[in-house]
Amino acid sequence: MPTPLTLPGICWPLQASTGDLGAATPHITGHFRAGAGMDAVSVCDILPAGKFRNGAARHWCRTHQCYWGARADLAGWQATGHMRCRQHASPMGYLLYPELFDPMQFHATTLRLGPEGSLQLRARADDGGALYARDAAAVAIDCRALPGLFHPDIVQLNIPPPAAQAYAAALRAGAPLGCSDCACCGHPHLDLGSFALAPHRRHSCGHCGHDASYSPVAIVSSPLWRLRAFALRQPRRIAQWF
Ligand SMILES: [Zn+2]
Ligand SMILES: [Zn+2]
Ligand SMILES: [Zn+2]
Ligand SMILES: [Zn+2]
Repeated sequence: MPTPLTLPGICWPLQASTGDLGAATPHITGHFRAGAGMDAVSVCDILPAGKFRNGAARHWCRTHQCYWGARADLAGWQATGHMRCRQHASPMGYLLYPELFDPMQFHATTLRLGPEGSLQLRARADDGGALYARDAAAVAIDCRALPGLFHPDIVQLNIPPPAAQAYAAALRAGAPLGCSDCACCGHPHLDLGSFALAPHRRHSCGHCGHDASYSPVAIVSSPLWRLRAFALRQPRRIAQWF
């Protein structure tokens, strides 16, 4: 394989029950054949994450949203010299050079899920009132002008398709939504797939792999919900958030 590239982008596992939307950097690292697609191969980002129930050391791959440290993982490590998770070769969705939207520079903003599953972002620039209209598979929300909303090391909140779809589905189903921050790292927890339709109290973190953060009541957690709560406090800025 050629050397992986590091570029501004959003990358997401095609199947996962958690996600890591709060990004400390706009960059992703992997192999990308185009500007967007469903066939990225991204580099693992593996960090220590406590222990397995049997006492063995456990790690978490932030890129692929899975634990590392099973017998097969250790055997692979010995054979190749690379610490790679079991999903390291699984194709991922990606979008390079995504829109970075700063909500504090616009008003009358609406964000909707379009019929084809794309995100439809419409807004008026504070400066001059020009219409801003983007349809994209994924967008990034600039968090640097939103102090206190998320953990301070988060510069942007990425919204990839699975997160938008899970959030819209939970809203439609009337599931009790909320946003729970990890007790260990403080990053916001994201529920995907069936977890986004079954409210629960115990959440596991897509950022650090800690698997025992409890919300006060059973919720479906999404950082998009916190942005919505922010939007409701800023009705001039944000008119609709899904
Ligand atoms: Zn994170
Ligand atoms: Zn991995
Ligand atoms: Zn959860
Ligand atoms: Zn965490």
